[in-house]
Amino acid sequence: MLVESAIWRDQLTPAERAELVRGAGRIADPHPDLLVVGGGIAGVATAAACHQAGLGSVLLIEAGRLGSGATGGAAGLLTPEIHEWSDPEPFVDLARASLHRWAELEETWPGGIGLVDVDWIGLSPDPGDLAPHQSPAVEWLDTGQVAELIPGLALPMAGALIHHQGRVNPLRSLARLSAALPAVATGVAATGVVIRGDRVVTVETTAGDISPGAVVFATGLPPVLDGLDLDVPWERVKGHLLVTEPAPVRLPGIVAPVATQLEDGRLLVGGTFDTGDESPVVRDDVIEGILAGLYATLPEARGLRAAYRWCCFRPRHPDGLPVIDRIPGLGNAWLTSGHYRTGILLAPVTAQALARWIGSDEPPAEAAAWSTERFAGRGLSGR
Ligand SMILES: Cc1cc2nc3c(=O)[nH]c(=O)nc-3n(C[C@H](O)[C@H](O)[C@H](O)COP(=O)(O)OP(=O)(O)OC[C@H]3O[C@@H](n4cnc5c(N)ncnc54)[C@H](O)[C@@H]3O)c2cc1C
Repeated sequence: MLVESAIWRDQLTPAERAELVRGAGRIADPHPDLLVVGGGIAGVATAAACHQAGLGSVLLIEAGRLGSGATGGAAGLLTPEIHEWSDPEPFVDLARASLHRWAELEETWPGGIGLVDVDWIGLSPDPGDLAPHQSPAVEWLDTGQVAELIPGLALPMAGALIHHQGRVNPLRSLARLSAALPAVATGVAATGVVIRGDRVVTVETTAGDISPGAVVFATGLPPVLDGLDLDVPWERVKGHLLVTEPAPVRLPGIVAPVATQLEDGRLLVGGTFDTGDESPVVRDDVIEGILAGLYATLPEARGLRAAYRWCCFRPRHPDGLPVIDRIPGLGNAWLTSGHYRTGILLAPVTAQALARWIGSDEPPAEAAAWSTERFAGRGLSGR
């Protein structure tokens, strides 16, 4: 049977599934010390970090169910090292620190948060295609070594191997983090704010007004709310993914750009960048293209069908980098947005930075590069 949604929910326990719809439509305390708006990985991790840091009563609200945005559709790969090839140094530092934080949470969180330690192998027919990369984390593999690790490739491939990267079922991590939160209200959307002086005094929601001491907006894209004037440009980039039936092939972790093997042998494939496609619908041609790519690199996989196929939108700022900032002009409101293709990876370190900032009233060093100021003067609001 073909399922037109992500596999992640089907892998959860009944208790984890119930967590995603916790507190439906109910706000227990409309006067929390901290309100977090948005129940994706960034919001839930931030609420958990602030609760853990003892910042008073924390309430999280989410318009749909937890993980109903980009988080529930992500591949869940946590691979900071590969960003050395494509992203600025502060981003790579942030990503590395966040994988480290994922590992700490896995050790210390009651029951863990579902982190799986995996190797990443990037393949290329021509070793020269893999740009020089000085990081000691990378081990270069010749075609013979790759063939030993991944038998059955259609073409001889060289590779780059990075040990101890990570992967999660994003909804499981979300549910585990959320379980420790005292107050969660799903099915509650923020609709507007009332600002007095430099403070947000009221957040209007579909379930009534909330008067928080401080508020964090972790809404994927910057929030569009009555009374809040945010000048932060954004766009969104659609992506398709699929998961096959259990496969006879065995892959040693994340094999880019081929597939990632999940627990029961299924292959997670894709992660397309369908720029300009604004339709929320899964496209047959894109799914067929993903499967054709899999069959072409790994002939043994021919005939494997998609058991799950889905698409979702990555929230993005024009430079592809996130915002982690206090909202300009406001003393008690923060924003994290535009986590684009690495929001699952970056959530724990983002959460830690925001908890430190809110707790001390001082911006932490790790947030310096992610301010909204970089968009100042563009004259762009929204898209
Ligand atoms: C195909 C694909 C593959 C990906 N793969 C990876 C990957 O392998 N690794 C990785 O790290 N990242 C990956 N990503 C990126 C990742 O999914 C996102 O960066 C991340 O989920 C963003 O999390 P978030 O919490 O900021 O936003 P979201 O998950 O979108 O959460 C925001 C939440 O806020 C809620 N909300 C919005 N407005 C309001 C409101 N007014 N009131 C109340 N609630 C509101 C929404 O309903 C939503 O649930 C992938 C994304 C896609 C699309």
